[in-house]
Amino acid sequence: MSHPDVLIVGGGIVGMCCARAMAHRDHEVVVVESGPKTGAASLIAAGMLAPQAESAAEDPMLELAVRARDLYVELAPVLLDEVGIDVGLWTGGIIQVAFTDEELAERKREVAWQRQSGFTAEWLTPDEVRARAPGISGEIQGAAYAPEDGSVDPQALLEAMTKSAESKGVTTIRGEDVTSLLIGAAGIEGVQTTNRSISAGAVVLAAGAWSGRIGGLARPLSVEPIKGQIAALDWPADEPPAIIYGGGGYVIKRGHEAIAGSTMEHVGFDATVTEEGLTWIRRIASDIYPALANAEVRRSWAGLRPQTPDGRPIIGPDPNVPGLWYATGHGRNGILLAGYTGEILAQLFSAEPIEHDLCCINPDRFWHW
Ligand SMILES: Cc1cc2nc3c(=O)[nH]c(=O)nc-3n(C[C@H](O)[C@H](O)[C@H](O)COP(=O)(O)OP(=O)(O)OC[C@H]3O[C@@H](n4cnc5c(N)ncnc54)[C@H](O)[C@@H]3O)c2cc1C
Repeated sequence: MSHPDVLIVGGGIVGMCCARAMAHRDHEVVVVESGPKTGAASLIAAGMLAPQAESAAEDPMLELAVRARDLYVELAPVLLDEVGIDVGLWTGGIIQVAFTDEELAERKREVAWQRQSGFTAEWLTPDEVRARAPGISGEIQGAAYAPEDGSVDPQALLEAMTKSAESKGVTTIRGEDVTSLLIGAAGIEGVQTTNRSISAGAVVLAAGAWSGRIGGLARPLSVEPIKGQIAALDWPADEPPAIIYGGGGYVIKRGHEAIAGSTMEHVGFDATVTEEGLTWIRRIASDIYPALANAEVRRSWAGLRPQTPDGRPIIGPDPNVPGLWYATGHGRNGILLAGYTGEILAQLFSAEPIEHDLCCINPDRFWHW
């Protein structure tokens, strides 16, 4: 623990995936995790692996995000084998319904662009949607279908990644806030926590929505919290499993529950559930599945997405401070992108060849003002 190769700030899903991937390459890694703090995103996410359902037409991230999704097909059995935890990988596809003419045109444009770019995407007529989701609203006009999108259980994934990282020698320090980065003339020197200073060869900033609040940053970091509220209702009786996007929200089956969400709110670090939020979620859920109109809200919760101005994460080295790295700003897709983020960061750190062009996630893209 004295002077590790790498110190990671934040033990959410992104921090733990980075820790595991670094430890796999024999780097000595320490993670400092303050809490988790109220609103930490990884514990409350819906868990969709939705690169195609989440992408707008001509999204520069799509190829990388699809690779991130497909990585879980490899990782899930490995994690089960390593630490005995089933991460609940579901690969049954995501249906994105259109209720209006405008949505219909937009969904068709996305399907066309994805197909032309070589991804598997289909257009479903209302009858074809009903064959997969019999309880769907009669109002739908059709749907985009991404047959390879799916989901994981985010809590199981975080537990599995943490255990796997720790089994590879990663040390996790819990209950201490990193208050400041320590940067000297030659680059990063370590961090100051609430209890002590810890020196390290490199520091990875992976503190989610709180990343921009760490003291001593090399420059202001364009990551802000976007609150999302979610509710769990009873899944409609006899309805087959599905993940349906529609009307700006989604419903996903997990266990016996319909997980429905989610709001996008600019309210700072407030992570409370509100009546307004729940009313909106109930409306989305019942617009998709009318049977959910009177379903009881069994549980509800909220969390803070670490959002960047362009919705893409910040992954890679600081251009000016040797040894300072970023793995933050994963916004709506941090569960999807976490596993591959760990691989990218560890590959860059270990000077291994990288499969993708990383310009769309480069840390310095916001820093030319
Ligand atoms: C409602 C909702 C639904 C979502 N659904 C999905 C989904 O379906 N699919 C998907 O891919 N993504 C989803 N996301 C997004 C996803 O949850 C996030 O992008 C992802 O969890 C971010 O992970 P992270 O590790 O960067 O941040 P976090 O999980 O927030 O972890 C950051 C960690 O850093 C710690 N920390 C903060 N400050 C410090 C400090 N000073 N010192 C030490 N530790 C510190 C915190 O305690 C926290 O544990 C959803 C998010 C929300 C809010």
